[in-house]
Amino acid sequence: MYNCVICRYHEIATKGNNRSMFERVFVDNIRHQLKDVADLRVGRVRGRVWIDHKSGADFTESEEAVICESLVRVCGLASFSFVIRTAVDADAIRRAAIDLVPRLFAETPGARTFRIRARRSNKKFPMRSRDIEIDLVSRIAEIPGLPEFEIDLDNAAITLGVEVRDEFAILYAASIPGPGGLPTGSNPRVLTLLSGGIDSPVAAYLMMKRGSPTDYISFHSSPYTPPETTDKVTRIAKHLNRFQISGRLYLVNLAEFQKAVRDCCEERFRTVLYRRAMMRIAEKVALQHKCRALATGEALGQVASQTLVNLDVINRAIDMLILRPVIGEDKLDTIATAEKIGTMVLSAPQVPDSCTVFAPASPATAAPLKQVEIQESRIPDYGALLDKIVSEVEVVEP
Ligand code: ATP
Ligand code: MG
Repeated sequence: MYNCVICRYHEIATKGNNRSMFERVFVDNIRHQLKDVADLRVGRVRGRVWIDHKSGADFTESEEAVICESLVRVCGLASFSFVIRTAVDADAIRRAAIDLVPRLFAETPGARTFRIRARRSNKKFPMRSRDIEIDLVSRIAEIPGLPEFEIDLDNAAITLGVEVRDEFAILYAASIPGPGGLPTGSNPRVLTLLSGGIDSPVAAYLMMKRGSPTDYISFHSSPYTPPETTDKVTRIAKHLNRFQISGRLYLVNLAEFQKAVRDCCEERFRTVLYRRAMMRIAEKVALQHKCRALATGEALGQVASQTLVNLDVINRAIDMLILRPVIGEDKLDTIATAEKIGTMVLSAPQVPDSCTVFAPASPATAAPLKQVEIQESRIPDYGALLDKIVSEVEVVEP
Protein backbone atom coordinates (compact mmCIF):
# COMPACT_ATOMS: atom_id res chain seq x y z
CA MET A 1 0.00 0.00 0.00
CA TYR A 2 2.78 2.46 0.87
CA ASN A 3 4.87 3.33 -2.16
CA CYS A 4 7.30 5.81 -0.65
CA VAL A 5 9.17 6.81 2.51
CA ILE A 6 9.79 10.41 3.46
CA CYS A 7 12.90 11.05 5.60
CA ARG A 8 13.09 14.25 7.62
CA TYR A 9 16.20 15.84 9.09
CA HIS A 10 16.70 18.83 11.33
CA GLU A 11 20.25 19.60 12.13
CA ILE A 12 21.52 19.08 8.60
CA ALA A 13 18.98 21.66 7.50
CA THR A 14 20.68 24.32 9.64
CA LYS A 15 23.93 23.95 7.68
CA GLY A 16 24.89 26.75 5.34
CA ASN A 17 27.36 26.38 2.49
CA ASN A 18 28.31 22.79 3.20
CA ARG A 19 24.75 21.58 3.55
CA SER A 20 24.94 19.61 0.32
CA MET A 21 27.97 17.69 1.65
CA PHE A 22 25.92 16.68 4.72
CA GLU A 23 23.00 15.69 2.54
CA ARG A 24 25.20 13.62 0.23
CA VAL A 25 26.69 11.70 3.15
CA PHE A 26 23.20 11.22 4.59
CA VAL A 27 21.83 9.80 1.33
CA ASP A 28 24.88 7.53 0.94
CA ASN A 29 24.29 6.16 4.44
CA ILE A 30 20.61 5.48 3.72
CA ARG A 31 21.61 3.68 0.50
CA HIS A 32 24.14 1.62 2.42
CA GLN A 33 21.61 0.60 5.09
CA LEU A 34 19.05 -0.36 2.45
CA LYS A 35 21.44 -2.09 0.05
CA ASP A 36 19.69 -5.44 0.47
CA VAL A 37 16.28 -4.17 -0.68
CA ALA A 38 16.11 -4.67 -4.44
CA ASP A 39 15.20 -1.94 -6.93
CA LEU A 40 15.22 0.95 -4.43
CA ARG A 41 15.80 4.56 -5.28
CA VAL A 42 16.90 7.17 -2.73
CA GLY A 43 16.66 10.78 -3.83
CA ARG A 44 16.64 14.31 -2.49
CA VAL A 45 13.82 16.74 -3.19
CA ARG A 46 13.60 20.09 -1.40
CA GLY A 47 14.91 19.42 2.05
CA ARG A 48 13.59 15.85 2.26
CA VAL A 49 14.94 12.48 1.25
CA TRP A 50 12.57 10.13 -0.56
CA ILE A 51 12.81 6.39 -0.89
CA ASP A 52 10.80 4.45 -3.43
CA HIS A 53 10.97 1.59 -5.89
CA LYS A 54 12.30 2.52 -9.29
CA SER A 55 9.26 0.72 -10.69
CA GLY A 56 6.90 2.77 -8.51
CA ALA A 57 5.60 -0.45 -6.91
CA ASP A 58 4.26 -0.57 -3.36
CA PHE A 59 6.56 -1.92 -0.65
CA THR A 60 5.83 -5.45 0.46
CA GLU A 61 5.24 -6.05 4.17
CA SER A 62 8.67 -7.60 4.56
CA GLU A 63 10.28 -4.65 2.76
CA GLU A 64 8.48 -2.29 5.14
CA ALA A 65 9.91 -4.22 8.09
CA VAL A 66 13.47 -4.14 6.70
CA ILE A 67 13.26 -0.43 5.86
CA CYS A 68 11.94 0.38 9.31
CA GLU A 69 14.60 -1.64 11.08
CA SER A 70 17.37 -0.14 8.92
CA LEU A 71 16.39 3.52 9.04
CA VAL A 72 16.39 3.72 12.83
CA ARG A 73 20.16 3.21 12.51
CA VAL A 74 20.80 6.15 10.15
CA CYS A 75 22.31 9.01 12.14
CA GLY A 76 21.10 12.43 11.03
CA LEU A 77 17.59 11.12 10.46
CA ALA A 78 15.10 12.99 12.67
CA SER A 79 12.02 10.99 11.67
CA PHE A 80 10.51 9.11 8.76
CA SER A 81 7.09 8.04 7.55
CA PHE A 82 5.78 5.48 5.14
CA VAL A 83 3.53 7.36 2.76
CA ILE A 84 1.19 6.85 -0.15
CA ARG A 85 2.35 9.17 -2.89
CA THR A 86 -0.25 10.20 -5.45
CA ALA A 87 -0.66 12.66 -8.26
CA VAL A 88 -1.70 16.20 -7.33
CA ASP A 89 -5.31 15.38 -8.01
CA ALA A 90 -8.32 15.47 -5.67
CA ASP A 91 -9.67 12.09 -6.80
CA ALA A 92 -6.31 10.37 -6.46
CA ILE A 93 -5.97 11.78 -2.95
CA ARG A 94 -9.48 10.59 -2.04
CA ARG A 95 -8.76 7.08 -3.34
CA ALA A 96 -5.53 6.91 -1.37
CA ALA A 97 -7.29 8.03 1.82
CA ILE A 98 -10.02 5.42 1.36
CA ASP A 99 -7.32 2.76 0.89
CA LEU A 100 -5.21 3.84 3.83
CA VAL A 101 -7.68 4.63 6.60
CA PRO A 102 -9.01 1.06 7.11
CA ARG A 103 -5.43 -0.12 7.54
CA LEU A 104 -4.79 2.55 10.17
CA PHE A 105 -7.85 1.48 12.16
CA ALA A 106 -6.83 -2.17 11.83
CA GLU A 107 -3.34 -1.33 13.14
CA THR A 108 -4.73 0.64 16.09
CA PRO A 109 -7.32 -1.64 17.70
CA GLY A 110 -9.71 0.18 19.99
CA ALA A 111 -9.04 3.58 18.41
CA ARG A 112 -12.20 5.71 18.55
CA THR A 113 -10.86 9.14 17.68
CA PHE A 114 -9.58 10.34 14.36
CA ARG A 115 -8.43 13.53 12.68
CA ILE A 116 -6.95 14.73 9.42
CA ARG A 117 -4.14 17.23 9.21
CA ALA A 118 -3.86 18.61 5.70
CA ARG A 119 -1.16 20.95 4.42
CA ARG A 120 -1.03 22.53 1.03
CA SER A 121 2.31 23.97 -0.04
CA ASN A 122 1.14 23.82 -3.67
CA LYS A 123 -0.93 26.99 -3.86
CA LYS A 124 -2.16 26.08 -7.35
CA PHE A 125 -4.16 23.18 -5.95
CA PRO A 126 -7.78 24.44 -5.89
CA MET A 127 -8.79 23.12 -2.42
CA ARG A 128 -7.50 24.81 0.70
CA SER A 129 -6.22 22.71 3.62
CA ARG A 130 -9.49 23.01 5.52
CA ASP A 131 -11.48 22.03 2.40
CA ILE A 132 -9.31 18.95 1.93
CA GLU A 133 -9.91 17.89 5.53
CA ILE A 134 -13.69 18.32 5.32
CA ASP A 135 -13.89 16.60 1.95
CA LEU A 136 -11.86 13.59 3.08
CA VAL A 137 -13.65 13.18 6.41
CA SER A 138 -17.02 12.97 4.66
CA ARG A 139 -15.70 10.27 2.33
CA ILE A 140 -14.00 8.33 5.09
CA ALA A 141 -17.26 8.34 7.09
CA GLU A 142 -18.80 6.32 4.26
CA ILE A 143 -16.20 3.55 4.26
CA PRO A 144 -18.13 0.36 5.07
CA GLY A 145 -17.02 -1.69 8.08
CA LEU A 146 -14.92 1.00 9.74
CA PRO A 147 -15.27 1.15 13.56
CA GLU A 148 -17.28 4.08 14.87
CA PHE A 149 -15.13 7.11 15.53
CA GLU A 150 -15.35 10.73 16.59
CA ILE A 151 -13.34 13.58 15.22
CA ASP A 152 -10.95 14.92 17.83
CA LEU A 153 -8.74 17.68 16.52
CA ASP A 154 -6.57 17.92 19.63
CA ASN A 155 -5.85 14.41 20.70
CA ALA A 156 -6.82 11.74 18.19
CA ALA A 157 -5.75 8.11 18.36
CA ILE A 158 -5.26 8.17 14.60
CA THR A 159 -4.06 11.13 12.57
CA LEU A 160 -4.06 11.04 8.81
CA GLY A 161 -1.49 13.48 7.44
CA VAL A 162 -2.04 14.88 3.94
CA GLU A 163 0.45 17.12 2.16
CA VAL A 164 -0.20 18.55 -1.27
CA ARG A 165 3.15 19.54 -2.70
CA ASP A 166 4.11 20.85 -6.12
CA GLU A 167 5.34 17.52 -7.50
CA PHE A 168 2.95 15.11 -5.77
CA ALA A 169 0.68 14.62 -2.77
CA ILE A 170 1.38 12.31 0.16
CA LEU A 171 -0.80 10.64 2.77
CA TYR A 172 0.60 9.04 5.88
CA ALA A 173 -0.13 8.25 9.50
CA ALA A 174 2.83 7.72 11.75
CA SER A 175 6.16 9.45 12.14
CA ILE A 176 8.82 7.09 13.38
CA PRO A 177 11.71 8.75 15.24
CA GLY A 178 15.27 8.30 13.95
CA PRO A 179 18.46 8.83 15.97
CA GLY A 180 18.81 12.53 15.04
CA GLY A 181 22.24 14.16 15.10
CA LEU A 182 24.47 14.38 12.04
CA PRO A 183 25.15 11.82 9.30
CA THR A 184 28.04 9.50 10.15
CA GLY A 185 30.89 10.44 7.82
CA SER A 186 30.26 14.19 7.90
CA ASN A 187 33.05 14.58 10.50
CA PRO A 188 36.50 12.92 10.56
CA ARG A 189 37.00 9.39 11.85
CA VAL A 190 37.84 8.81 15.53
CA LEU A 191 39.24 5.86 17.47
CA THR A 192 37.06 4.73 20.38
CA LEU A 193 38.64 2.94 23.34
CA LEU A 194 36.20 0.08 23.58
CA SER A 195 35.99 -2.11 26.66
CA GLY A 196 33.35 -4.74 27.22
CA GLY A 197 31.53 -2.34 29.56
CA ILE A 198 28.34 -0.37 29.10
CA ASP A 199 29.76 3.12 28.65
CA SER A 200 32.26 2.85 25.82
CA PRO A 201 29.84 1.31 23.26
CA VAL A 202 27.48 4.20 24.01
CA ALA A 203 30.38 6.63 23.54
CA ALA A 204 31.16 5.06 20.13
CA TYR A 205 27.51 5.41 19.12
CA LEU A 206 27.37 9.04 20.24
CA MET A 207 30.46 9.83 18.15
CA MET A 208 28.78 8.31 15.11
CA LYS A 209 25.69 10.34 15.91
CA ARG A 210 27.78 13.51 15.82
CA GLY A 211 29.07 12.57 12.39
CA SER A 212 32.34 10.77 13.17
CA PRO A 213 32.72 7.20 11.99
CA THR A 214 34.77 5.22 14.45
CA ASP A 215 37.37 2.51 14.60
CA TYR A 216 37.81 0.72 17.92
CA ILE A 217 40.80 -0.16 20.06
CA SER A 218 40.52 -2.65 22.88
CA PHE A 219 43.10 -3.74 25.42
CA HIS A 220 43.30 -7.24 26.79
CA SER A 221 45.90 -8.94 28.98
CA SER A 222 46.22 -12.39 27.49
CA PRO A 223 47.00 -14.89 29.09
CA TYR A 224 45.76 -13.13 32.26
CA THR A 225 42.44 -12.42 30.56
CA PRO A 226 40.63 -15.23 28.69
CA PRO A 227 39.72 -15.25 24.96
CA GLU A 228 36.15 -14.37 25.99
CA THR A 229 37.37 -10.84 26.77
CA THR A 230 38.22 -10.13 23.12
CA ASP A 231 35.31 -12.23 21.79
CA LYS A 232 32.92 -10.03 23.72
CA VAL A 233 34.40 -6.78 22.48
CA THR A 234 34.46 -8.10 18.88
CA ARG A 235 30.74 -8.83 19.13
CA ILE A 236 30.11 -5.31 20.43
CA ALA A 237 32.18 -3.72 17.63
CA LYS A 238 30.33 -5.80 15.03
CA HIS A 239 27.02 -4.64 16.43
CA LEU A 240 28.10 -0.98 16.54
CA ASN A 241 29.15 -1.21 12.89
CA ARG A 242 25.50 -1.62 12.00
CA PHE A 243 25.28 2.15 12.52
CA GLN A 244 28.11 2.97 10.07
CA ILE A 245 29.63 1.72 6.85
CA SER A 246 32.79 0.24 8.39
CA GLY A 247 34.97 0.31 11.48
CA ARG A 248 38.02 -1.76 12.35
CA LEU A 249 38.89 -3.18 15.72
CA TYR A 250 42.48 -3.03 16.95
CA LEU A 251 43.24 -5.56 19.68
CA VAL A 252 46.18 -4.76 21.92
CA ASN A 253 47.85 -6.99 24.48
CA LEU A 254 48.80 -4.84 27.46
CA ALA A 255 50.03 -7.69 29.69
CA GLU A 256 53.73 -7.07 29.23
CA PHE A 257 53.34 -3.43 30.19
CA GLN A 258 51.18 -4.35 33.17
CA LYS A 259 53.85 -6.76 34.40
CA ALA A 260 56.44 -4.00 34.16
CA VAL A 261 54.17 -1.70 36.18
CA ARG A 262 53.58 -4.44 38.75
CA ASP A 263 57.32 -5.00 39.12
CA CYS A 264 58.58 -1.41 39.05
CA CYS A 265 55.89 0.95 40.31
CA GLU A 266 53.90 1.72 43.44
CA GLU A 267 50.73 -0.33 43.55
CA ARG A 268 48.24 2.50 44.11
CA PHE A 269 49.23 4.20 40.84
CA ARG A 270 48.71 1.15 38.65
CA THR A 271 45.31 2.11 37.21
CA VAL A 272 46.42 5.59 36.19
CA LEU A 273 49.64 4.17 34.72
CA TYR A 274 47.66 1.64 32.66
CA ARG A 275 45.35 4.38 31.46
CA ARG A 276 48.16 6.69 30.37
CA ALA A 277 49.75 3.82 28.46
CA MET A 278 46.41 3.01 26.83
CA MET A 279 46.11 6.63 25.67
CA ARG A 280 49.66 6.66 24.29
CA ILE A 281 49.14 3.41 22.41
CA ALA A 282 45.74 4.54 21.15
CA GLU A 283 47.22 7.83 19.94
CA LYS A 284 49.90 5.98 17.95
CA VAL A 285 47.33 3.64 16.39
CA ALA A 286 45.03 6.59 15.63
CA LEU A 287 47.84 8.47 13.87
CA GLN A 288 48.76 5.38 11.84
CA HIS A 289 45.19 4.91 10.68
CA LYS A 290 44.09 8.51 10.14
CA CYS A 291 41.78 8.83 13.11
CA ARG A 292 41.62 12.46 14.17
CA ALA A 293 40.73 12.04 17.88
CA LEU A 294 40.19 9.42 20.58
CA ALA A 295 36.87 8.77 22.29
CA THR A 296 36.24 7.05 25.62
CA GLY A 297 33.29 6.09 27.79
CA GLU A 298 34.66 7.91 30.81
CA ALA A 299 32.08 9.55 33.10
CA LEU A 300 33.21 12.01 35.72
CA GLY A 301 33.60 10.49 39.16
CA GLN A 302 32.40 7.02 38.20
CA VAL A 303 35.44 5.08 39.43
CA ALA A 304 38.90 5.89 40.78
CA SER A 305 40.42 6.41 37.34
CA GLN A 306 37.70 8.90 36.48
CA THR A 307 38.07 11.45 39.25
CA LEU A 308 38.67 14.90 37.84
CA VAL A 309 42.31 14.88 38.94
CA ASN A 310 43.01 11.45 37.47
CA LEU A 311 41.26 12.31 34.22
CA ASP A 312 43.52 15.35 33.99
CA VAL A 313 46.64 13.26 34.60
CA ILE A 314 45.50 10.69 32.04
CA ASN A 315 44.64 13.46 29.56
CA ARG A 316 48.15 14.89 29.81
CA ALA A 317 49.75 11.69 28.56
CA ILE A 318 49.09 12.67 24.94
CA ASP A 319 48.51 15.66 22.69
CA MET A 320 45.66 14.19 20.70
CA LEU A 321 42.11 15.37 21.39
CA ILE A 322 40.26 12.95 23.69
CA LEU A 323 36.46 13.13 23.46
CA ARG A 324 34.30 11.83 26.29
CA PRO A 325 30.71 11.94 25.10
CA VAL A 326 29.21 10.43 28.29
CA ILE A 327 31.27 12.50 30.74
CA GLY A 328 28.20 14.19 32.25
CA GLU A 329 25.66 11.40 31.91
CA ASP A 330 23.75 9.69 34.67
CA LYS A 331 24.56 5.98 34.50
CA LEU A 332 20.86 5.14 34.12
CA ASP A 333 20.65 7.34 31.03
CA THR A 334 23.71 5.65 29.56
CA ILE A 335 22.08 2.28 30.25
CA ALA A 336 18.88 3.47 28.54
CA THR A 337 20.91 4.43 25.44
CA ALA A 338 22.76 1.09 25.55
CA GLU A 339 19.39 -0.64 25.60
CA LYS A 340 18.04 1.45 22.77
CA ILE A 341 21.01 0.74 20.50
CA GLY A 342 21.16 -2.93 21.47
CA THR A 343 24.59 -3.04 23.15
CA MET A 344 23.28 -3.58 26.68
CA VAL A 345 22.67 -7.32 26.20
CA LEU A 346 26.16 -7.66 24.73
CA SER A 347 27.82 -5.76 27.58
CA ALA A 348 25.92 -7.57 30.34
CA PRO A 349 27.92 -10.84 30.59
CA GLN A 350 30.74 -10.44 33.10
CA VAL A 351 34.15 -11.32 31.65
CA PRO A 352 37.55 -10.36 33.08
CA ASP A 353 38.75 -6.91 32.00
CA SER A 354 42.27 -5.85 31.21
CA CYS A 355 42.10 -3.08 33.83
CA THR A 356 41.47 -5.53 36.66
CA VAL A 357 44.71 -7.45 36.01
CA PHE A 358 46.97 -6.76 39.01
CA ALA A 359 44.41 -4.11 40.05
CA PRO A 360 45.48 -2.25 43.19
CA ALA A 361 43.51 -2.94 46.38
CA SER A 362 43.20 0.79 46.95
CA PRO A 363 43.87 2.92 43.86
CA ALA A 364 45.00 6.55 44.14
CA THR A 365 42.02 8.83 43.46
CA ALA A 366 44.15 11.95 43.01
CA ALA A 367 47.50 10.86 41.60
CA PRO A 368 49.86 13.87 41.39
CA LEU A 369 51.28 14.19 37.88
CA LYS A 370 54.88 14.50 39.15
CA GLN A 371 54.55 11.27 41.13
CA VAL A 372 53.05 9.47 38.16
CA GLU A 373 55.89 10.63 35.92
CA ILE A 374 58.43 9.37 38.46
CA GLN A 375 56.69 5.98 38.43
CA GLU A 376 56.84 5.89 34.62
CA SER A 377 60.54 6.72 34.66
CA ARG A 378 61.13 3.57 36.71
CA ILE A 379 59.92 1.34 33.88
CA PRO A 380 62.95 0.36 31.76
CA ASP A 381 62.60 1.40 28.09
CA TYR A 382 59.05 2.67 28.58
CA GLY A 383 58.82 4.10 25.03
CA ALA A 384 60.32 1.05 23.34
CA LEU A 385 57.95 -1.22 25.26
CA LEU A 386 54.93 0.72 24.00
CA ASP A 387 56.30 0.69 20.43
CA LYS A 388 56.72 -3.06 20.63
CA ILE A 389 53.13 -3.44 21.83
CA VAL A 390 51.89 -1.23 19.00
CA SER A 391 53.82 -3.29 16.44
CA GLU A 392 51.97 -6.38 17.64
CA VAL A 393 48.46 -4.93 17.34
CA GLU A 394 45.99 -7.37 15.87
CA VAL A 395 43.57 -5.89 13.30
CA VAL A 396 40.06 -7.32 13.12
CA GLU A 397 37.30 -6.46 10.61
CA PRO A 398 34.33 -7.28 12.79
P1 ATP B 1 32.97 0.91 30.28
O1 ATP B 1 31.59 0.60 30.75
O2 ATP B 1 33.00 1.56 28.95
O3 ATP B 1 33.90 -0.27 30.39
P2 ATP B 1 33.67 1.74 32.82
O4 ATP B 1 32.63 2.46 33.51
O5 ATP B 1 33.85 0.30 33.12
O6 ATP B 1 33.49 1.97 31.27
P3 ATP B 1 36.48 2.10 33.08
O7 ATP B 1 36.67 0.65 33.07
O8 ATP B 1 37.16 2.93 34.07
O9 ATP B 1 35.00 2.55 33.13
O10 ATP B 1 36.91 2.65 31.66
C1 ATP B 1 36.74 3.99 31.28
C2 ATP B 1 36.96 4.07 29.78
O11 ATP B 1 38.29 3.68 29.44
C3 ATP B 1 36.08 3.09 29.03
O12 ATP B 1 34.81 3.65 28.78
C4 ATP B 1 36.87 2.88 27.77
O13 ATP B 1 36.70 3.95 26.86
C5 ATP B 1 38.30 2.90 28.27
N1 ATP B 1 38.72 1.53 28.61
C6 ATP B 1 38.73 0.92 29.79
N2 ATP B 1 39.19 -0.34 29.70
C7 ATP B 1 39.46 -0.55 28.40
C8 ATP B 1 39.96 -1.65 27.64
N3 ATP B 1 40.27 -2.79 28.20
N4 ATP B 1 40.12 -1.48 26.32
C9 ATP B 1 39.80 -0.31 25.72
N5 ATP B 1 39.35 0.76 26.38
C10 ATP B 1 39.17 0.65 27.70
MG1 MG C 1 35.20 -0.99 31.94
